Amino acid sequence: MKKAISALLIVGMLFGIACFAGCTAKKEETTQVTKSTADIDYLVIVNKLHKLPEDWEKNLNITKMNNSLGDDVEVETKAYEAYLKLKEDLKKEGVNIDLDSARRSIAAQEDIVKRFTEKYGEDYVKKYVAVPGYSEHHTGLALDLYLNINGKDVYLNEDMVKYPEIWEKIHQKLADYGFILRYLKGKEHVTGYSYEPWHIRYIDDVDAAKEITAKGIAFEEYLGLVKVTDVAYDYGQSKLYKKAQIEECMDLVKCKFAEWEGCELQALRYAGDEKNAREKTERLKSLNEKEPDQYTAIMVLETDFKTGEKISDTLTLEPGKDYTDYQWILACDKEGSWEIADCGY
Ligand SMILES: [Zn+2]
Repeated sequence: MKKAISALLIVGMLFGIACFAGCTAKKEETTQVTKSTADIDYLVIVNKLHKLPEDWEKNLNITKMNNSLGDDVEVETKAYEAYLKLKEDLKKEGVNIDLDSARRSIAAQEDIVKRFTEKYGEDYVKKYVAVPGYSEHHTGLALDLYLNINGKDVYLNEDMVKYPEIWEKIHQKLADYGFILRYLKGKEHVTGYSYEPWHIRYIDDVDAAKEITAKGIAFEEYLGLVKVTDVAYDYGQSKLYKKAQIEECMDLVKCKFAEWEGCELQALRYAGDEKNAREKTERLKSLNEKEPDQYTAIMVLETDFKTGEKISDTLTLEPGKDYTDYQWILACDKEGSWEIADCGY
């Protein structure tokens, strides 16, 4: 995960430092103790709802490598062996990959949260930093790749996305080595993350990986944690917003929706220019009360969804009910970054 833009660059840099500190500490442990890889469940699920199992870190067998950027990277040993085979295979086709980051310990993540809370405050941390224990990178089985094109390393997110044809070649080979692409386009409401072509996950099962890939389903869906459903999208005909802006806001809503355990997203649409124009004045006024001109735009989206029979206490929704035209209000701050400001009727 590397980004070049403003605040996120700082996050990226400090992540690097934190990871390095974590790696150094872990080194002694892994050289002293020999562990069996049979101790871990390669089909483990770690996402925004499912925490890393309690004894995971002590059972993990780690290999440490150094990438072309000079960073130390830790990977679960079997995942690393599979990665090397994938890399070798891709090389034959003229595609060169390297490892940006893989395993991040809970302690390192806690350290990041602590330092960032002191420096930027709680709101910032909530928005940009993963909750310790809930990042798939803790498993050692999640790998972030970067590319080497014509002898040049391409590792920034915004640069990497410019090569969809190269990622396509990489993605086609993943299952042969027991890997899956984890954060799929169109499955944000299931995974909780936007599309990431570089984030791959080792599951140690070629047949399962092939099935997941062929069906185009998310890992959560394969494991039966979430029902596979089609979401109906409607971008409308807006004169106020470009389709890309509407898509960006839809992504935010979908990622948030993934945290609503047991809820099934059915439809997501732009609420129309009329409703958007009406909401804008009122909402901006109330949102900018604390700090004038902090927000510059408002977008209203609507969703249809169904709640499960059992529902989390944190949600003020009724179980087993169909919700239609449920609203999401998004606000754009002066830096051009969108966030969810409110949801409900
Ligand atoms: Zn990642």
